[in-house]
Amino acid sequence: MRKPEDELAQLQQASLLRSIPDEEASLINFASNDYLGLARHPGIAEAWTDAIQRYGNGSTASRLICGTSPAHRELESTLAEAKGTEAAISFATGYSTSVGILTSLLQKGDTVILDKLCHASLIDGARMSGATIRVFPHNHLPKLRTLLTSTADKASSDSRTLVVTESIFSMDGDAAPLKEISDLCKEYQALLMVDEAHGLGILGPTGMGLAEKLGLQGAIDFHMGTLGKAAGVGGGYLAAKQIWVDLFINRARSFIYSTAPPPAQAAASAEAIRIIRSQEGAQLRQRLWQNISTLQDALQLPKQPGSAIIPWMIGESKEALQLSKILRDLGMRVPAIRYPTVPRKTARLRITLSAAHNPSEISELAKTLIDRSQ
Ligand SMILES: *Cc1c(COP(=O)(O)O)cnc(C)c1O
Repeated sequence: MRKPEDELAQLQQASLLRSIPDEEASLINFASNDYLGLARHPGIAEAWTDAIQRYGNGSTASRLICGTSPAHRELESTLAEAKGTEAAISFATGYSTSVGILTSLLQKGDTVILDKLCHASLIDGARMSGATIRVFPHNHLPKLRTLLTSTADKASSDSRTLVVTESIFSMDGDAAPLKEISDLCKEYQALLMVDEAHGLGILGPTGMGLAEKLGLQGAIDFHMGTLGKAAGVGGGYLAAKQIWVDLFINRARSFIYSTAPPPAQAAASAEAIRIIRSQEGAQLRQRLWQNISTLQDALQLPKQPGSAIIPWMIGESKEALQLSKILRDLGMRVPAIRYPTVPRKTARLRITLSAAHNPSEISELAKTLIDRSQ
């Protein structure tokens, strides 16, 4: 029988072994997705503790069994309003949202077309659904069109075609050509799902993501995201027409067969969404964009991609780990990202910025990266 020791030794050999590092408060954190610093926002903490007094610690069952707390309903109506949809449904995590939604929407005979760099949760949901999976090279519109054409040729009147993309890609920080993708979906009568895990909080006039920034909220069938990143709390959501949400309530196994997240978590998330949309949220975004600009200038990176994720490309896993360790010894947490999170030979440091960083921290990071790369 295959021994776990051998599997781990192989990973070690390839510089692909992972372990969970301890949190070290002394390190300057360039690893989290807390883009606005909301993970430590006192108003959100207060919403959380107030809700514990009202609703208790845990939800104790699936909402279909126990009834739903008003906190979950409020979170969902807040999200639906923010996204400009009729309804929304919340999940325990973004991961379980992806899996629940894709397995509800798709079955054998359907086709799901994904960008090559889509998140593992989207790939896993697509695989579990039993639908035919097609993949287009990252942001490659001609190939997406080819796949839509060949799918349309084979489609029956009963089958669904779904295109899935992230808005801001989690490991590269670049944006999908959302307008062009949504036009193609319209032309081929395909459904469109957009994962805004890294767009929420940072893009758009009220921070609702790339779709809001581009004025495309109405053109997207399924708005997916997480409440654990810029919102600073935890959980996942899907905003869509009511009829689709009704279907997910009936079909999404990660919703039906899972204890609902604590009501207080939902209350805290609703408060986080309100803050993201408020004047305060706009000010935090402004500070974040200043920080992004400072790092781009210091590293002489192109200005155009708009996100808080800045990859520092290395190539080999071993070298990425080494540089990450050097930075750690200098007091900075910058994670090395390796296969299978990114393609082989594209190991990198993934720098994430936050409104909570100050300019001197960013300058120090930039200086070290430049010194070590010569
Ligand atoms: C983090 C992430 C998810 C999963 O969300 P969680 O709430 O962390 O489970 C889904 N999609 C993308 C693109 C992500 O980066």
